[in-house]
Amino acid sequence: MLLGGPGSGKGTQAVRLAAHLGVPHISTGDLFRDNVDRGTRLGERARRYIDAGELVPDDITRAMVRDRLAQPDTERGFILDGYPRTRTQAVALDGIIASLGRRLAAAIHVFVSDGELRARLSARGRDDDDVNTVRTRLRTFHRYHGSLVEYYRQAGLLYDVDGEGEMEAVAARVLGIFP
Ligand code: AMP
Repeated sequence: MLLGGPGSGKGTQAVRLAAHLGVPHISTGDLFRDNVDRGTRLGERARRYIDAGELVPDDITRAMVRDRLAQPDTERGFILDGYPRTRTQAVALDGIIASLGRRLAAAIHVFVSDGELRARLSARGRDDDDVNTVRTRLRTFHRYHGSLVEYYRQAGLLYDVDGEGEMEAVAARVLGIFP
């Protein structure tokens, strides 16, 4: 799983790592956007939170993640991107993983400074990248991130990766975790 702020590049790195390991890339942001685009009930419930840059309520998110991880293509592993975002979600994920008879291999923390996060987000131009939403997303990120990182550090699963600099250099650091 990858942990990092909005605009940290964790999504890009997650896609590359998943391709490298030959396992599915599972992004909760992508799953939500797909549901919104298809006009599903889940998408309708999640939309206003996404538009505001707030976290979608835990019960909705947890059910979506559980359903996705129960799909047969995850049998050889998976890369989770964007979940968990809080310690509460991390505990929920432990429950989901245990109920599926699996275990987590690593929590990769892609670290990028705040100034760099803001610069990258303003250059990106996704629907939820406007100034107010970015501010809310960064605030939300900071509220939960520290205790989330601590959770995985205590579990002995945390790998810190410097997320600044060239994308290729960051990718090499991430891939270096898996010899
Ligand atoms: P992302 O693509 O990861 O930046 O996610 C985009 C938006 O989807 C977030 O701003 C949240 O509204 C929602 N979202 C994604 N992952 C989660 C999560 N783990 N918990 C709650 N909301 C989420």
